Amino acid sequence: MNKETILTGIRSNDTPHLGNYLGAIQPMIQSAIKYSKTHCINMFVPDLHSFTTPTEYDSLFDRTLQNIKLYVACGLPIEHENVNIYRQSYVPAHSEMAWILGCFTGFGEANRMVEFKDKSSQLGDDRVSVGLFNYPILMASDILLYDAKWIPVGEDQRQHLELTRTLAQRLNNQFGEIFTVPNDTKSQQKFIDRDSSLRIMSLKHPDKKMSKSINDPAGTILLNDIPSDAAKKVMAATTDSVGVINLDWENQPGISNLLCISALLSEKPIEEVAKAMTGKTNYGELKSIVAGQVEEFLTNLQTKMKNLDDSKILGHLEAGEKSMNIIANKKLLQIQKAIGLRK
Ligand code: ATP
Ligand code: MG
Repeated sequence: MNKETILTGIRSNDTPHLGNYLGAIQPMIQSAIKYSKTHCINMFVPDLHSFTTPTEYDSLFDRTLQNIKLYVACGLPIEHENVNIYRQSYVPAHSEMAWILGCFTGFGEANRMVEFKDKSSQLGDDRVSVGLFNYPILMASDILLYDAKWIPVGEDQRQHLELTRTLAQRLNNQFGEIFTVPNDTKSQQKFIDRDSSLRIMSLKHPDKKMSKSINDPAGTILLNDIPSDAAKKVMAATTDSVGVINLDWENQPGISNLLCISALLSEKPIEEVAKAMTGKTNYGELKSIVAGQVEEFLTNLQTKMKNLDDSKILGHLEAGEKSMNIIANKKLLQIQKAIGLRK
């Protein structure tokens, strides 16, 4: 029987932040460790997605390699035969498949994507590209090429995952069982042991998610921040005037965000962490705990990054890309035949 595939990626438009780690990298690594004997683990860098919003082109290549190194430093077991690391643009079938899928996507359907609306409103009309509009379709291609069933992504990607499911079902209905339909969001969360979709908020603006492409240095903990600077950002986090600690996302988003970060970094259930702090009136105590956890986490991570053997990682990367091209081209050929491009 074929192994089920778990897949995720972080684009390399900018340095990843704590939200990326807690929302995408940490659950993926936990799954990789738990399931690498029984599942295929595809952890890639969607480098073609990286310039759907403005980025520095000169350093894109290096940032992509940095992301791969980050996965390894965070504990991805790349030695395991079922674990695959690769760069999207090194597997050209992604782009080809995206074009085909795009021709089966309604304009109105794509136009409903909230992430596009959010990002385009931040960018201003002259900087919004067709690439940004189309990217959920490229993401569908990233998933469907590998028959991936499990996609541990953050809450912001939920709608894109739904679009992927719709496209897979649509093409299967028309052409026969070509694609594996990824599981729905609810079962995805259960699979990665997360009750609700996770969204780490900005420390400065707790009503907005921590984001790579938004300029919010005081609200964002970058994974390459100097650990003591990151701790200072936590100490200066925006809270509220309630004066008592509660896990209450609606009325106390800043405090709830800190409780959430603390729970995930200590790998404890949020209810447990919240219970220990609920009713306390000293916000500074909670901030100090989280600041200490963040500082320790970054110090360890950055030490591991420094000690990696780059040539070994490159070897794994190239091997991953070779085998991914074989798998992806096979799937591409199936759809090319179905729609009349190949005999
Ligand atoms: P950008 O603003 O450039 O889109 P991003 O921070 O949203 O950057 P992505 O590369 O788009 O990062 O997303 C990579 C992964 O990280 C996705 O699975 C996404 O759901 C997750 N993620 C991003 N931001 C957060 C966040 N604040 N909390 C939890 N998960 C997040
Ligand atoms: Mg994003």
